[in-house]
Amino acid sequence: MTRLATLEARLDGPLLITNLINIRYLTGFEASNAALLVAPGDTPKLYTDFRYIEVARATPGVDVVLSKRSILSELAASLKGTLAFEASALPYAQFEVLGGGGLILKPTTGIVEALRAIKDESEIAAIRHTALAAERAFEALTADTFVGASEKEVAWRLHQLLHAHGADNPAFESIVAGGLNGSKPHATPSDDIIPAHTLVTVDWGAVIDGYYSDCTRALATGDLPDELARIYDVCLQAQIAACEGIRPGMTGVEADRVAREVIEEAGYGDHFGHGLGHGVGLEIHEAPRLSTESPDTVEVGQIVTIEPGIYLPGVGGVRIEDLAVVREHGLELLTSFPKELVTVS
Ligand code: ZN
Ligand code: ZN
Repeated sequence: MTRLATLEARLDGPLLITNLINIRYLTGFEASNAALLVAPGDTPKLYTDFRYIEVARATPGVDVVLSKRSILSELAASLKGTLAFEASALPYAQFEVLGGGGLILKPTTGIVEALRAIKDESEIAAIRHTALAAERAFEALTADTFVGASEKEVAWRLHQLLHAHGADNPAFESIVAGGLNGSKPHATPSDDIIPAHTLVTVDWGAVIDGYYSDCTRALATGDLPDELARIYDVCLQAQIAACEGIRPGMTGVEADRVAREVIEEAGYGDHFGHGLGHGVGLEIHEAPRLSTESPDTVEVGQIVTIEPGIYLPGVGGVRIEDLAVVREHGLELLTSFPKELVTVS
């Protein structure tokens, strides 16, 4: 069954899709201006403007409609009755345009995102490919000198290496956080010089053909002070426990718990202030969430990160993140760079 057919089978009325990544997922069509109308029993209609029309016409399984630049005002004038829309992908001003002709608008959330959360084997292969390229870039990075370089220099080097190893782009602005900066989970690379005898947290990923990867390692720049060595070890134990213990059928809260328990028992519970992981696919953060607040369930075919961290202000921090596919028996890792402490010069 095609993705469009799967979606159609779940609908009880017409749904207008304006999230461009969801349109890409469902049809393969990429544009900066498009809308997709899916209704039970009808051929899906793909709306776009002149700039993209030639590419749109090559999209299988849809009727293509050439629209003015303002697709929503055209839809407002031509559609009648009740129309479901994606609440998180329609700014209020556009909502007003779409409703301007009397359509009854029904908000929905997460319908296509729920389909996207379960990857097929071609998507798993694409993400595996991206993760491998990102990992090769990181391996090359670790062969170089960290001590004495600024975080920004290392981040830039990684950026270049990602391109050299086949990435279309970095997945996000890489995090390189040395020494005390390591206590900020989402530190921005600074001009600070990376010192010896500390941990440097590097969180990076790539995107190739639209599919993302995400990984974090904390590297040692020499022998570590006791507390940094200890938090590295606790974080590693928590990360391994999660990789080995998470099973399909667990709730996102239960999955998070597997790692959190280890960190709490070691006395660092207050210093792991974010969730254990998130889905990765056509976006760097997507369904499901593995966290203390997650409404999601772990299911076969999801691709999730497993990324516990411990952050001690005034001391430093550590996060270890792998990317994994949920299989019947548990998690299959897509990351192979060693998790045991690696020392760089
Ligand atoms: Zn990450
Ligand atoms: Zn992540």
